[in-house]
Amino acid sequence: MSATRVVVIGAGIGGLAAALRLARAGLSVTVVERAEAPGGKMRAVPVDGTRIEAGPTVFTMRWVFEELLAECGASLAERVTLRDASLLARHAWSRDERLDLFADIDASAAAIHAFAGAGEAEGYRRFCARAAEVYRTLEGPFIRSGQTGPTGLAKRVGISGIGDLWRIQPFATLWSALKEYFHDPRLLQLFGRYATYCGASPFTAPATLMLVAHVEQAGVWTVQGGLSALAASIAGLAVENGAEFRYGTHVQEIEVSGGKVTGVRLAGGGRIPADVVICNGDVAALDAGLLGRAAAPAGDRIGRAERSLSAVTYCVRAETAGFPLAHHTVFFSRDYRAEFDTILRDRRLPTDPTVYVCAQDRSAEGAFPGGPERLLMLVNAPADGTERPLPATEIARCETNLKARLHACGLSLTRESAATVTTPEAFAGLFPGSQGALYGRASQGWAATFKRPGARTKIAGLYLAGGSVHPGPGVPMAAQSGRLAAAAILADLGSTGLSGATAMSGGTSMR
Ligand SMILES: Cc1cc2nc3c(=O)[nH]c(=O)nc-3n(C[C@H](O)[C@H](O)[C@H](O)COP(=O)(O)OP(=O)(O)OC[C@H]3O[C@@H](n4cnc5c(N)ncnc54)[C@H](O)[C@@H]3O)c2cc1C
Repeated sequence: MSATRVVVIGAGIGGLAAALRLARAGLSVTVVERAEAPGGKMRAVPVDGTRIEAGPTVFTMRWVFEELLAECGASLAERVTLRDASLLARHAWSRDERLDLFADIDASAAAIHAFAGAGEAEGYRRFCARAAEVYRTLEGPFIRSGQTGPTGLAKRVGISGIGDLWRIQPFATLWSALKEYFHDPRLLQLFGRYATYCGASPFTAPATLMLVAHVEQAGVWTVQGGLSALAASIAGLAVENGAEFRYGTHVQEIEVSGGKVTGVRLAGGGRIPADVVICNGDVAALDAGLLGRAAAPAGDRIGRAERSLSAVTYCVRAETAGFPLAHHTVFFSRDYRAEFDTILRDRRLPTDPTVYVCAQDRSAEGAFPGGPERLLMLVNAPADGTERPLPATEIARCETNLKARLHACGLSLTRESAATVTTPEAFAGLFPGSQGALYGRASQGWAATFKRPGARTKIAGLYLAGGSVHPGPGVPMAAQSGRLAAAAILADLGSTGLSGATAMSGGTSMR
């Protein structure tokens, strides 16, 4: 009996996790990726004779990868070098308003006490306890579960857990919930920013996103070689387990016949027959028919107002002075609400942006030998991609405004190399169907979280994985979606009694 043929469209982390798991299970896996390297958003770009990480830089929820690799007979610690970060991030509002957050709650509480007083430090401790509770309530029934709907969540939490579910305030916004813990507007801003980890506004994101605070306290690691190296490592392990990778190859159609997938058609000619197809591209691409009309019902229609944030990123090599950068530093705007109104209501770039800077040559605490250093700088932006591209003048102005914000906090850049700038329009080109939205459907309001499709679709043999799919965006969550897709496929194969072999009944929607 020949092995079940699986085609994975996209070598983002969701696709890689699924490919690895299924190759390990003995299925015949081909990953088709339009870029020249694995990783998707976990990418590095060439700048001034070096490479700079232009995507994710904050690595959390290490357990997802430890479990994935252990399931595949490997060890994360042997494959990538991770360093524990005791300093999570440095935050700045002006030349003399700075706050460091640490993995250690006592250390952070002491820093908050010195920064904003005893009441805020006490609020921080209460906030941490609540964030941990939110995380504990959702890890098993939501993050680890393949089922997506709110009713299912309530069932999985069970009668005894309903109180927990209620306490985590699923219907409140993050911003309103934060006011129960903090009065200082700078702290509201700092903890409200966690909404942007899912590409949402703190003013509309659900309070449950405070779980990000707990996830960071549970550990942030710097990855040697950056997150693109983690992607390369997982791809390498998938190859060791028999998966084949075809880079620089765009899938233009998922072929469906008699309600079942039969293969994929490639741009420029050629097809690959398949019994199972996993789409790791944005689910909006499916809905838009970018992978053929037959596969469109498996997608998700995400209106403009429902898209998550995009970004403008600058990768540059420069000397820095006037501010002690840590590995992760956030320079906050003066008016957070105005910033989000400009981005999400006016669909423009903010005049006073919050700027995230990843100083990639520094240790978490900021140790650095000196000289020019590699920087990723990021500003949130509207996801209007190719629909309404931001004019070049506005992008240029954004760079000036970004530097003004850094300067207001004391940081200046000198001897800058030419920067590699990625705009929402460029992100839309890199990730078809997304219009530059980097995290799928925005987590706006309590119901949005449950609208993300799960791994199974209405089309037999077609499955989904990635940041636009349940359980959500971010490197570990997208990897988790790949694990869930692999588990669903193996379960569906098992239910036909043909595990690892051709012919399967395919999936039915669990939405
Ligand atoms: C600037 C930036 C900063 C971020 N920061 C963080 C962070 O610090 N921490 C964190 O955890 N997360 C962060 N994220 C989010 C995180 O990177 C993503 O959620 C995650 O990597 C998405 O993985 P994915 O599985 O959805 O695949 P993606 O990365 O979206 O990759 C999908 C792949 O599919 C390919 N593809 C699509 N269509 C086709 C087709 N038709 N044919 C062939 N190939 C196709 C694409 O080329 C791409 O390689 C950040 C994202 C960005 C952009």
